[in-house]
Amino acid sequence: MPADYTTPPLPVPSPALLAELETIYRNLHANPELSMQERRTSGIAAAWLREHGYEVTEGVGGTGVVGLLRNGDGPTVLLRADMDALPIKESTGLAYASDRTGTDRFGQMTFIAHACGHDMHVVWLMGATRILAENRGAWSGTVMAVFQPGEETGQGAKAMIEDGMVKRFPKPDICLGQHVMPLSAGQVGWHIGTMLSAGDSWEVTLFGRGAHGSMPQKSVDPVVMAASAVMRLQTVVSREVAMTDSAVVTVGTLQAGTNENIIPDHALLRLNVRTFKDEVRTRVLGAVKRILEAEAEASGAPKPPAFSVLSKFPLTRNDAAATQRVVKALEQRLGSARVSEVGPATASEDFGLFGTAWNVPSVFWVVGGIDPEIYQQAETAGKVDELPVNHAPDFAPAIDPTLRTGIDTMLAAASAWLQPGSGCAA
Ligand code: ZN
Ligand code: ZN
Repeated sequence: MPADYTTPPLPVPSPALLAELETIYRNLHANPELSMQERRTSGIAAAWLREHGYEVTEGVGGTGVVGLLRNGDGPTVLLRADMDALPIKESTGLAYASDRTGTDRFGQMTFIAHACGHDMHVVWLMGATRILAENRGAWSGTVMAVFQPGEETGQGAKAMIEDGMVKRFPKPDICLGQHVMPLSAGQVGWHIGTMLSAGDSWEVTLFGRGAHGSMPQKSVDPVVMAASAVMRLQTVVSREVAMTDSAVVTVGTLQAGTNENIIPDHALLRLNVRTFKDEVRTRVLGAVKRILEAEAEASGAPKPPAFSVLSKFPLTRNDAAATQRVVKALEQRLGSARVSEVGPATASEDFGLFGTAWNVPSVFWVVGGIDPEIYQQAETAGKVDELPVNHAPDFAPAIDPTLRTGIDTMLAAASAWLQPGSGCAA
């Protein structure tokens, strides 16, 4: 082959493939599964990989799936999609909206919906793995497709790693992941360094002493204790975090009592902390613990609060050189008008654990999902912040062009590492 020979780039998804994936997407969207319960979804992903010639391992860390496609010499590229849905009632009104229910990790019955778009991530990776499999002449190296369970609860990547991921599968040269976000569909966003915040979720039980509602002198009222604690927790960010740093403290669950004339004996809080720096994280978590313990003490609680960790997400850090490589590939494939720097986001991810486990760089980027016309109208009206966001009951990406964009971005980023040309023809 002459030195100036260039292999054809990986093709864009064909209309037939997009139609097939859209059917699968609608089906996944209508049949969401909660974290660590993704049996049906992972079965669909595993069957797809097998059909397209991947070596498939199922049941990695519960419902995780790893598919390997070895295609000659060259780097190994890890491509990751998460699969889980959220305990939320969908209100999109779409023809393929979910009405599914299930039991969450707290043992409560709940509606389930793909309000974070992980169903879209699954079909993106399905599309990319198929195009890679059908165009083996265009690249060489190894593709490792990872369909990960339990991202929302921070359990999935950890479970896969604890199940021997690092020993059982080849060491990747790069880990690549992407997420649908409320940007205009067709647009892609990137950031070098800290792309996503660290996230820490705790469950806290405040203990009081129960009594008749008419006899507060016999009680230690955990409702008052909790109310006071929630208000004081909001001073952590305003009074203990420097103006040049940032953090979020959200109490998302506050439960106490069953009746108006009973003072309950405990109150339950579930809270969430987001930070962008390790030292800020340590400071904020320390302050949260201190305030809750001190409020219990101030109330004369019979015992200190009980703390348990619900989830712990690391910072998602994008390697500088690897991110530049991805951005160049994205710009070449999509045109630079569709690729922009978006700054860090206050969501959190466990994707970074894979790169950390193997000690290799990783890159995570975001892909828009809002119908471009609706986005444009909102922008003109100054109402972009009112558009549905991930985890809102009315969030669902516009299938076109979100579906094809996410396949293109995954292929662009992967081909920045996979060597052109020397692989075997399909
Ligand atoms: Zn998500
Ligand atoms: Zn989410």
